[in-house]
Amino acid sequence: MVEIRLTNSMTRKKETLVPIRPGQVSMYVCGPTVYDRAHLGNARPVVVFDVLFRLLRHVYGEDAVTYVRNFTDVDDRINETAQKRKAAGATGTLEDLIRERSDETIRWYHDDMDAVGALRPTHEPRATEYIPQMVAMIEDLIAKGFAYENEGHVLFRVRRYAEYGQLSGRSVEDMIAGARVEVAPYKEDPMDFVLWKPSDDDLPGWPSPWGRGRPGWHIECSAMSYALLGDSFDIHGGGNDLLFPHHENEIAQSCCAHPEGSFASIWLHNEMLQVEGKKMSKSLGNFFTVRDLLDKGVPGWNGVPGDVIRYVFLLTHYRKPMDWRQATAITAKQRLDIWSSEVQSNRELEREFKQDRDEFVRNYVDPTVVEALADDLNTSNALTTLIAAGKKLEGLSRVQFTDDEVETIQRQLVAGCYLIGIDLYHYANAISRGSFNLSDFASKLTALRETAMQTKDFSAVDALKSSLLAAGAEVRMTKAGVEVIPGPNFDPAKLEPLK
Ligand code: AMP
Ligand code: ZN
Repeated sequence: MVEIRLTNSMTRKKETLVPIRPGQVSMYVCGPTVYDRAHLGNARPVVVFDVLFRLLRHVYGEDAVTYVRNFTDVDDRINETAQKRKAAGATGTLEDLIRERSDETIRWYHDDMDAVGALRPTHEPRATEYIPQMVAMIEDLIAKGFAYENEGHVLFRVRRYAEYGQLSGRSVEDMIAGARVEVAPYKEDPMDFVLWKPSDDDLPGWPSPWGRGRPGWHIECSAMSYALLGDSFDIHGGGNDLLFPHHENEIAQSCCAHPEGSFASIWLHNEMLQVEGKKMSKSLGNFFTVRDLLDKGVPGWNGVPGDVIRYVFLLTHYRKPMDWRQATAITAKQRLDIWSSEVQSNRELEREFKQDRDEFVRNYVDPTVVEALADDLNTSNALTTLIAAGKKLEGLSRVQFTDDEVETIQRQLVAGCYLIGIDLYHYANAISRGSFNLSDFASKLTALRETAMQTKDFSAVDALKSSLLAAGAEVRMTKAGVEVIPGPNFDPAKLEPLK
C-alpha cells in the first residue's frame, strides 16, 4: 500500500499516516460560515482537502474514507441579512428568513465548489442540527471542572488545561500579550473562551440549562466531529488562519471532554491565497468570489472554467502562500485546452474512462503522480509529471512515439488529471458549450474554405486565419479538416472582436 506522509502542524514534522482503525480513514475539515458567497480564498482549503480525499479513496478504497465538513449556520451576519429582508417586507418569521439565507448560501457553496471539481464530503453537518450534542458536551465540561457558568455565559477555563497552546506553540502568557482576548465581567480569566452565550429575545436561541442562548463557534466543531467521527480520528484540516484560537480551542474542549480519546492524530493547515501578490481585501478592490470568476473572470473569456481555477491552485503546495494571477490562469487554460483536445479524439479511451473513472485511475495512473501526492500532497510535482506527459503528445514530439505509446501517455494523462480532480472529457464538453470556443473558429474557417474553393477568392479565409494567428492560435488546415488550437502565446481577448 502507498505510504502517505503529511506535515502535522502539531509536531511540525512530516509523518506517515497510520489510520487509527486499520484500513479506514476519517477526516474533519472546518467548513464555511454560510452568510454569503464564498470568496476565492475559501475555495483553497476545499480544493486542497478534496485532493487529499481523492488520494485517500484511491489508496484505501472509496468506501473506506469518511470525510466530514461542517456548515456554520449560527452567525450574526446571517441574522443581519434576515433582519434586513424582514424590514424590507419579506414574508415569514425571522427564523424562516434565517433558514432561507443559510439554505441559499449552502446552495451557492455547493454550486461553486462542484464547479471547481470538489467531491461532496461524506457528511456535511449543519451546526443548528447538533445543538443538543453541544449542550451535552458543555454540561460534561462543567461537570469535569473545565468550564463554568456566569451570567448566562458558559466559559472554558483555559488554565485548567495544561497542554493549551501546543498546536500553535504559544504559552498562555504570549497569547494574552498578542491576542485580542476579550476582558469581560463574566470571565474568571481573560483567556477563557465562550462555550455558550445568551441570545437576545429577537434573535435565534435554544433552550439550555443556562437559559435561552446559542453556542460559541469552537464548540460546534468539537461536538460535530465527536458525533460523526468519535473521540479519535485521523486528520483534522482547515486554513492556517484557524490554527489559533479556533483549533487550539477545539483541542482543549475535545480532549477535556473525552480524555479517553486522542481527538485528531494529524493536523493539516493550508496557507492563504493572495491576488496578484496582495492580500485579497475589499478595500484593495481585489476581492472576488468564486462565482465572479466562474461567470466573468478573465477579460475576453466567458468565465474561468472551474478546472482552470483548480489547476492554478494546485500549482502551489498547500503549505505555501499562493497567488491568484490572471497570467497563470491563461497558461493553465491553454494546457487544459490542449490536453483535453489531445484525448478527445480517442473515443475508446473515453468510453472506458466513463465506465468507471476510479477503476480507470487505478489501472492507468502514473505511479509518479501518486507518489508526489502521497509526499505531503505535492500537487505541483504531480502537475510537473502531467505537463511532461502532455508535452509528449504535442506537435512534433508526438511523432517520436508509436501509436501504443501515445495511447499509454493519453491514459496516464486522463488518469492523473482525474486523480487531482480534473476530468478532461468533462472539461472538453464544458469548453465546447462555452461561447468562447476555438472549434467554432475551426468550423467557420472550414465553411469559408469551402466557399473559397468555389469562388477562388481566398481573402476571407486568409483574413480569419491571420487574426487567429495574431491571437496566438495555431491553425492546421489539411485535407482532413481544419484544427484551431491555442498556441503558447494565445490571447483569447484578441478574438473577442471576431465573435
Ligand atoms: P470562513 O467562512 O471565513 O470561516 O472560512 C472558511 C475557510 O476558508 C476556512 O478554512 C479558512 O481558513 C479558509 N480561508 C479564508 N480565507 C482564506 C484565504 N485568503 N486563503 C485560503 N483560505 C482561506
Ligand atoms: Zn472547526
